[in-house]
Amino acid sequence: MQKDAPPGCGGTIGDFVLNLFDRRRVRLKQELSRESTLEKERNSQKTPFQGNLIELVQYAYDYAPYFRSLLDAEAVRPDEIRTREDLQKIPVTHKDDLIQLQAKNPPLGGWLAQKAGRLRRVFLSPGPIFDPEGDTDDFWHFEKALRLAGFRAGDIVQNTFSYHMTPGGFMLDAGLRKLGCVVFPAGVGNTNLQVQAAAALKITGYTGTPSFLMAILKKAEEMGYHPKRDLHYRAALVTGEPLPPSLRERFQKEYSIAVYQVYATADIGCAGFECGRREGWHLSRETLVQICDPASGEELPPGETGEIVVTHFDPAYPLIRFGTGDLSFQMKDPCPCGNSSPRLGGYMGRIGEGIKVKGMFVHPNQVQTVVNPYSEVEGFQMVVSRKAHQDVLTYRLKNPDPDSVSAELTSELEQKLRDVVKVAGKIEWVRAFEVPDRRIIDLRRWE
Ligand SMILES: [Zn+2]
Repeated sequence: MQKDAPPGCGGTIGDFVLNLFDRRRVRLKQELSRESTLEKERNSQKTPFQGNLIELVQYAYDYAPYFRSLLDAEAVRPDEIRTREDLQKIPVTHKDDLIQLQAKNPPLGGWLAQKAGRLRRVFLSPGPIFDPEGDTDDFWHFEKALRLAGFRAGDIVQNTFSYHMTPGGFMLDAGLRKLGCVVFPAGVGNTNLQVQAAAALKITGYTGTPSFLMAILKKAEEMGYHPKRDLHYRAALVTGEPLPPSLRERFQKEYSIAVYQVYATADIGCAGFECGRREGWHLSRETLVQICDPASGEELPPGETGEIVVTHFDPAYPLIRFGTGDLSFQMKDPCPCGNSSPRLGGYMGRIGEGIKVKGMFVHPNQVQTVVNPYSEVEGFQMVVSRKAHQDVLTYRLKNPDPDSVSAELTSELEQKLRDVVKVAGKIEWVRAFEVPDRRIIDLRRWE
């Protein structure tokens, strides 16, 4: 008899049940196979929309429920987002928003575009914010940054970021493994053991914060090691805190360690890295970075300081217009290294520390970068006041003998500060600050 004969056409009850079962099995198989093709597409190692904004936005709209609700609420259709400029139609989702979103819609606030079961790991950062690791090698894109920093296959590398709860340890680990390095997963603390292992294993690479690298070197000296003879560090990739130029120079001169920085966040991994010139961060092609006005979300022209807003071309966690809360600016000139990718001019602090002066967002770290090379400046304060309804910016710079400072130096510094801060201000040299420990003093009254 025919297998798929309908009931009542000559088959027995047993045949009918078998037919029903077969049809269901076939349908189930078809559904599973369609689902698995989709899953394969979504989870393939090769990002299907690498650098293609149109595909990314459509994909995130289809698979990340929060992104769909965000566009729907703004009455923006995904096909309206075709260029970088169009992105401004999408509101910025700030890092702090993730706390609420994830609490309301666990585990990842509707930004996940795959089943949570497809992830490799999930981490917990302060906030609390959960950070996913998708199922791809070097998910956070550190390999290139490591290679440019001088790490090579076969290097033994001491990775001192935490492997516990937060993603730092695994982030660097994944990039190092992709590059072919041998990882010593040291994690944080245990400085004595870190020194002993570095010497015994002839470790050549270091990843971690710059201050912890210095702590290891100092501890080695205390323990009777000669850092240059008994330790073998050659390359270091640091992040997590600013690297002052003086500290970088010390690593190079005193310890012969070439130290490179990256710009990374727990949410998206490495977004910017240094080339051999070490003048700013080249932007990774896995992310689209915009520098935006922290209040309006509008993209700012090169040279102006604003929030780093990233769009992440990733099939597992396609964050779009994600406001990191970090401040930087895009550099105007192309890098002399020949790589034409845009560069960020370094870390300018977090939103909240800066203020607006004459309509420009200014931050004390901008001043810090200008005065760093000048030994004459022992400290600074930005003082903002109002005169005739105009903001007035004054830089108080500390020097033990203010009268000894030349007029040439003062005008040179005023010029450099104007170039970086984008607001003109006069310098006042002072012996001491009236109110210590404050980098910004806002005397404006809005009454
Ligand atoms: Zn370069």
